[in-house]
Amino acid sequence: MSKILLADRMAAVQESATLALNAKVKQLAREGRTVYNLTAGELASDTPDFIQAAVAKKLQFNKYTPVAGLPELREAIAANARDFYGLDWIEPANVIATGGVKPGLYAALLAIINPGDEVILPVPAWTTSYRPLIELCGGVVVEVPLTEEFDLDPKAIAQKLSDRTKAIIINSPNNPTGAIFSRAALEQTAKLLKGSEIAVIADDVYAKLVYDDTFTLVPTAGFDKLVILNGFSKSQALTGWRIGYVIAEAKVAQAITSLLSHITGNAPLPSQYAALAAIDEQNDRPPAATITTLKRQRQMVDEALKQVSGINYRLPGGAFYYFFDIQELTNSSLEWCQQLLDETGVALVPGEAFGTPGFARLSFVTDETTLKKALELIKQFAEKDQT
Ligand code: PLP
Repeated sequence: MSKILLADRMAAVQESATLALNAKVKQLAREGRTVYNLTAGELASDTPDFIQAAVAKKLQFNKYTPVAGLPELREAIAANARDFYGLDWIEPANVIATGGVKPGLYAALLAIINPGDEVILPVPAWTTSYRPLIELCGGVVVEVPLTEEFDLDPKAIAQKLSDRTKAIIINSPNNPTGAIFSRAALEQTAKLLKGSEIAVIADDVYAKLVYDDTFTLVPTAGFDKLVILNGFSKSQALTGWRIGYVIAEAKVAQAITSLLSHITGNAPLPSQYAALAAIDEQNDRPPAATITTLKRQRQMVDEALKQVSGINYRLPGGAFYYFFDIQELTNSSLEWCQQLLDETGVALVPGEAFGTPGFARLSFVTDETTLKKALELIKQFAEKDQT
């Protein structure tokens, strides 16, 4: 029996639905079930050899670093980000290295959001973490649907602005849809927010995994109150190393640093060296081979899903997810995904995890044999009740 009373705030917090599902799938595999895990939010490859080698040379170092990170890392992130975004205001003082994007996001929200402040969340979104983090700050989530094409919808955003709106989170390429938001929609949103006190939190964790030439980096669209979140998890295959960064104007950067000084302290030191190697060796871009593989796998999914009646989808422009509409097949995407897992061993994430029932997220970062087999099983499962 539990003896300790939990704080009221825990009502807002459950374990991340996607991480919990991933853990369940791994458990099933350990029990001997054949599972085709298409829930992963991370590249399938191991830590790149050059990163292992670079960090191996630094293992004797064990001391705290400055909370915001090693000076040489902040220097390197700032120079790299100036070049990547074309934003010349980015200096080391604007950069905080964080233990992954998540603590950076939480600290940024804590630094900006007062209780009762509203945060606009275009959905589908990574609500699985955005919502609890906003609510832990006492903030109020205001969901605004994306367009049918999964683009940002400035008109819908305009309708939801109020004098309590304090921030908007924009994530492109987007989890769960894989969509990239159009330049026109981003610029119109920037125009809409100009002169207001609304901060734009650009979650750019997938901005280096892009397959479509029309991609516009959110921070280049003309937003004047910008907090950039980015990191090495997704594009450098370093999810478990926990290393990311926040870029913000100096006062906000200082506030985030003060918060983190009491929560995480500095980001893990070996991971800071890993990040430095990723910038030094390959300019913090994923290897071309990674993009080629992901593009091919994206195409495999497209070719397979095209054949399945009842599943509707859009080709993702980035990240490594398809978010397909299964409303013609079921009234409950949660149950559909559960049955799919039970009957075929294929694991997808139901749209409920992203505030959008009626959909399922398929992650195509797995080996191609698994992907091919899983796609066949999805087709058989989707079509079995239709014949
Ligand atoms: N932002 C989005 C949109 C994500 O999908 C994820 C991970 O799934 C993160 C942030 C978290 O990144 P990190 O693992 O660096 O904390």
